[in-house]
Amino acid sequence: MSADVIDGTAVANQILSDAAVRSTRFAEVVGRKPCLATVLVGDDPASHTYVRMKTNRCATVGLDSRAHRLPETATTGDVVALVAKLSTDDTVDGILVQHPMPHQVDERQIFETITPTKDVDGVTGASFAAMALGDKGFASCTPAGIMHLLDAYGVDPAGQRAVVVGRSPILGKPIGMLLLARDATVTYCHSRTVDLANMVSEADLVVAAVGRPELIKGNWIKPGAVVIDAGYNPGNIGDVEYTAAAHRARLITPVPGGVGPTTIAVLLAQTVEAAESAHVVE
Ligand code: NAP
Repeated sequence: MSADVIDGTAVANQILSDAAVRSTRFAEVVGRKPCLATVLVGDDPASHTYVRMKTNRCATVGLDSRAHRLPETATTGDVVALVAKLSTDDTVDGILVQHPMPHQVDERQIFETITPTKDVDGVTGASFAAMALGDKGFASCTPAGIMHLLDAYGVDPAGQRAVVVGRSPILGKPIGMLLLARDATVTYCHSRTVDLANMVSEADLVVAAVGRPELIKGNWIKPGAVVIDAGYNPGNIGDVEYTAAAHRARLITPVPGGVGPTTIAVLLAQTVEAAESAHVVE
């Protein structure tokens, strides 16, 4: 068997083209474009790259972006003050605080300063609770992007045995909850899981969300399974041993070009949605 490859760029383009249409309509009605404010603290090169990719994308979809930078030495108080100001700024619709932040900054306190109606990256406790309870709110972007991929390829999680490897609050935990909400039977694996290979080998749907290159071996994959690799490691390597896994899976995401593009697309779509909600644009 050789898996069909999930084209994350194509799925992302569909989300982005819908966001672009809505963004144009918003600008016609409100007289300005939807605006995403980004907050970048410190000098981490990868974070700079991610923020640049996101702001460049804003321009192509007809969104404004406003980049705010604070030095490596910024305190929690400095970042809280900036985020609090953006939270009450009527010309800002969405706020993205890029993480990880320097060690002296209390990330959770920063996230909780974002008003939930502008939490387009889905990092606040309120957004997490809304997602867990199935209430209205902004989902964490990568898990929401993965659900778009599954829907675009006709994968119905209902009744499937899903194994999520990783339990971070922005990725592993929420994707498990979204799959559960769609009636999958979900098992979480993590660094203390005993016999990961056996767990993965029983999965109809595997989501890898670890950040360890090729941790998940191709011969662990159940023949005919769907494999979603959210991992992104130096050298464009995912968490799954791609070539060997593709010989056994039915559907698989490549790295890059799988999960990554949909993450940014969801961020921008949620920014447009935040703008529409704040200004009652139907
Ligand atoms: P994280 O916060 O570091 O969480 C990693 C998770 O992996 C933890 O739950 C950890 O378990 C688990 N883990 C570590 N070693 C393990 C092992 N040997 N076996 C099983 N589980 C293990 O990472 P994250 O932020 O969720 O990101 C995970 C990956 O996704 C990274 O490669 C990141 O770059 C990528 N990512 C991609 C996107 C995208 O847009 N494509 C977005 C976000 C993240 P414990 O909880 O027990 O420590």
